[in-house]
Amino acid sequence: MAEILVLIDHADGEVKKVSFELLTLARSLGEAAAVWIGPGYEAAADKIAEYGPAKVYVAADAELTGYVVAPKVEVLQQLAAGAGAVLVAATGEGKEIAGRLAVRLDSGVLTDVVGVTPDLVAEHSVFGGSVIAHAKVTKGTPVIAVRPNAIALEAAPGSPAVEQVSVALSDAAKGAKITDRVVQEKGERPDLTEASIVVSGGRGVGGAENFKVIEGLADSLGAAVGASRAATDAGWYPHQFQVGQTGKTVSPQLYVAAGISGAIQHRAGMQTSKTIVAVNKDPEAPIFELVDFGVVGDLFQVVPQLTEEITKRK
Ligand code: FAD
Repeated sequence: MAEILVLIDHADGEVKKVSFELLTLARSLGEAAAVWIGPGYEAAADKIAEYGPAKVYVAADAELTGYVVAPKVEVLQQLAAGAGAVLVAATGEGKEIAGRLAVRLDSGVLTDVVGVTPDLVAEHSVFGGSVIAHAKVTKGTPVIAVRPNAIALEAAPGSPAVEQVSVALSDAAKGAKITDRVVQEKGERPDLTEASIVVSGGRGVGGAENFKVIEGLADSLGAAVGASRAATDAGWYPHQFQVGQTGKTVSPQLYVAAGISGAIQHRAGMQTSKTIVAVNKDPEAPIFELVDFGVVGDLFQVVPQLTEEITKRK
């Protein structure tokens, strides 16, 4: 069985949930092998073993995480010879790694993937999410960037073999050094790109203060809060929470859009969500074209009632 390499996405000692989703997927495609880059593997070893990789490659040298993406590409390039595929998270960094790696391997890359069949046909979202395409890399080792929340987690506890890897970085890989890291305030809510429920507000929310209504529903559901660009550009909510083409891509189990019209650039970031609910007072709003459940009404009446009902049932 060919080895399916999974780049483990981790930061500040925390392994991102998408890494476990990728390991789950890798097991259905071949022999899953995790790739850990940077220090700190020992603290994460048990959690990684729960998702059943047969092997873990550990490139522990701290220098590897001191530069922007290129060293990670060199580690993966070294390991990828003969692998069946390389899976990375379809995050900003993951997609950059995927593209660079595919060039190095002289193979092909598929990004924004939401599913992969055992013969490595990927279902992915293209042209800003307006088309779902099936595609397969036809040359070399496929590099596949999979969206967080696209794969249902399935544990398969095991005891992977651990192999230490050393990589002599090229000068080119040291081209962009990380000089400082500022950890953004995370708060109590789940990470937007990893959350299984996201509640977003748009221009219809009408002001920064009113975002409390959106946060109230989000908190009753244990959800992350998102916002349209109209809301972030107006300064009502921080830009880091913008969903869409120029913001974050999310693919939760449930996406609630309140006071959002459903512009193509917003859809690009959320339309692969499993279930989409919209609250909008305009029955002609384009968001209603893609929802599973739509409520035509004033969000200031509908959302608080929803929050109250959910809170009551908990
Ligand atoms: P609007 O389009 O103004 O819609 C507001 C909606 O709220 C309306 O449908 C209205 O009926 C409804 N409403 C008003 N009051 C209420 C109420 N009380 N109750 C219920 N409903 C109410 N946008 C993004 O979101 N993300 C991006 O990443 C992004 N990137 C872009 C990149 C480019 C290059 C460009 C050109 C645009 C981008 N945009 C992006 C902007 C996008 O085109 C839209 O302008 C934006 O998404 C609109 O946000 P909105 O739906 O909140 O506002």
